[in-house]
Amino acid sequence: MQTLQHLSKNIVYLPPVQETDRPVLAAVTGNKKTLIIDAGNSVRHAQLFKDELLRNDISGNFLVLTHSHWDHVFGLENIGIPVICQEKTYTNIKDMQQLSWEDQALDQRVEEGTEIPFCADAIKLEHGTNREIAFPLPDIIFEKTMTIDLGNITCVIEHVGGDHAKDSCIIYVPEEKTLFLGDCLYANLYAEKWNYTAEQASLLINKIEAYDAETYILSHHDQPCTKQVMEAELKLMKECARTVVEHRGNQALMEQELAKELKRDLSEDELETIGFFVNGYVK
Ligand SMILES: [Zn+2]
Repeated sequence: MQTLQHLSKNIVYLPPVQETDRPVLAAVTGNKKTLIIDAGNSVRHAQLFKDELLRNDISGNFLVLTHSHWDHVFGLENIGIPVICQEKTYTNIKDMQQLSWEDQALDQRVEEGTEIPFCADAIKLEHGTNREIAFPLPDIIFEKTMTIDLGNITCVIEHVGGDHAKDSCIIYVPEEKTLFLGDCLYANLYAEKWNYTAEQASLLINKIEAYDAETYILSHHDQPCTKQVMEAELKLMKECARTVVEHRGNQALMEQELAKELKRDLSEDELETIGFFVNGYVK
């Protein structure tokens, strides 16, 4: 059972669920308004969050989408409040409205390589046999950044892009030093091999490092990340982006150099990250 977590007086969130690919849903509340972050992977998911918020006397006034991947937008159907998104998220949703989510259509897209097995399976699991999935177009569209004054609490939304999704946006709450990263730090999963590119990763890291944050929320991580954990993660990614170019995608040489720098064996996660950079390196 998913229950609401209180990150602070002004921020609550519903943790993610791995099996059905439910991302974090969050609410940031000021003394005037509440901003909801992401719509969820189904009407059921969105309703669960709404109910949990109501039990805590919170109701949303606006909703912002971090990007257009299905698990963040399929809950839009009965949302009933103005929805904000980046312009590319808007056009992606428009395109997705044309698609069928029935078994045959999903399987065909997996076959063609435009959908990935993990998402197709999660959609089937979350939505059962009813795949009449309707998600209306968002109402408010921005290009680069947008700031929302919730009353003593501010949300700065910035389009950052990256390998995971070109439309990825992050939401910064300066008064709480909290940064919602959505999925932007994850690899590109819509590729033959999951990957990061040195160029996109470097651009993204610079944008993330511009924010003075103590707490980071990644949409599919069970726990918020501390500053120390995030600094280590970004450092690793920077090193990977540098060494993948220097060693022309030679994984063994990258691993050697990074292990030498860290003066220890590399962890599974570190090896995986290096592998993703090798996958994204075009010789
Ligand atoms: Zn995503």
